[in-house]
Amino acid sequence: MKGYLYDSDRCMACTSCTVVCPVAAATREFLGPKMVGPALSRFRRPALAPDLAADLCSNCKNCDISCPSGVPISTLNMLSKAEYYRHHRHRLRDWVLSHGQLMGNLATPFVPLSNLAIANPISRTMLGAFGFAGRMPLPAYVRKTFRKQFRALRQQSFPQKVVFFPGCYIDFYDPGVGLDFVAVMQANEYEVVVPRGLGCCGTPMVANGFPGAAERAVRRNVRALQEWTDAGVPVVACCTSCSLTLKQEQQELFDVPGAAELAARVYDATEFLLELRDRGKLKTDLKQLSGRYLYHAPCHLRDQGIGRPGFEMLGSLPGLEISDADAGCCGLSGSYGFKGDRYEVAQAVGDALFKKVRASGADAVISECGTCRHQITVATGAKTLHPISVMRRAFE
Ligand code: SF4
Ligand code: SF4
Repeated sequence: MKGYLYDSDRCMACTSCTVVCPVAAATREFLGPKMVGPALSRFRRPALAPDLAADLCSNCKNCDISCPSGVPISTLNMLSKAEYYRHHRHRLRDWVLSHGQLMGNLATPFVPLSNLAIANPISRTMLGAFGFAGRMPLPAYVRKTFRKQFRALRQQSFPQKVVFFPGCYIDFYDPGVGLDFVAVMQANEYEVVVPRGLGCCGTPMVANGFPGAAERAVRRNVRALQEWTDAGVPVVACCTSCSLTLKQEQQELFDVPGAAELAARVYDATEFLLELRDRGKLKTDLKQLSGRYLYHAPCHLRDQGIGRPGFEMLGSLPGLEISDADAGCCGLSGSYGFKGDRYEVAQAVGDALFKKVRASGADAVISECGTCRHQITVATGAKTLHPISVMRRAFE
């Protein structure tokens, strides 16, 4: 893991980060990004007792987006959490929430029993006793993971290849998004490759103070992708937290050989498609669609500095009406809103978005992030979709 006093001296105390921090706005318990990040990190030398001031930080990265000095504030916060947990025991709840791949591998063979086991009222009360938010249902596992379904797919072979990084959410909860990506790429004469050995991107481990497990995940992914990055093949993710980690966070936190070379090849799926479209490489005989949609940009997409490529792509599809919710963070932030002691903050953070969704009357809410979609559906009852699922209908 990289050094502890990482770049905090670039902070000029302008407080822009504090103004945009959704958690600081939702609770006075949180000191805010300037104080918890660069200011306190100057005092957090190993000889001093590590503190948990950063634990309320959800790693949404809105502070990073706003900082004019390029201070990686959320990364300082995650380093601070990691340091704390070098000296203190983790909660079982945080271990479960951050090891989604292992939990998925254990749970999916027993669907629907495993879903019943976590969703019935008695077990939700028990989960509450272990620190989970009883009112926030965990997403349901699928019986057939994306990887399983992908292995059974018969793709048409094309000289142009693209590597797909599924990540845990698509693999265990929402495989249809990955299959939609494959269909869109096949319609545009690309063959999709999913190398063996890919796993969790590491973000949930970082956010819950397991830097060792996160670094092992990064090393494993870099190794699994090396053959393809060496060959110059693009690596595409449909989950914005995965694409952000592969592009940026893994380099801010760890020194892993090959990570920078991989980062240079990584795209978010909508970014990749927009680039192909702008180069005239996408099909243009698209099907006429219909529908009125509301778009929510995930924080981890906005932090990538690539605009809103999914919103732009969908806006250009024939027959679609789409507006941007522009209502900030949904509040869930991966695993944060599933915690009993963070649930109220997560709901308060997402409240502006929930109000816009309820008032919109849209047919569905579109967002690239699986956990944003889950939060929106649970809070408002709205139907949610990944942009790629709408694009599939236009391209096929
Ligand atoms: S990552 Fe999000 S919650 Fe954490 S300090 Fe930055 S803006 Fe606030
Ligand atoms: S936005 Fe950047 S420079 Fe301004 S207070 Fe926050 S960390 Fe410091």
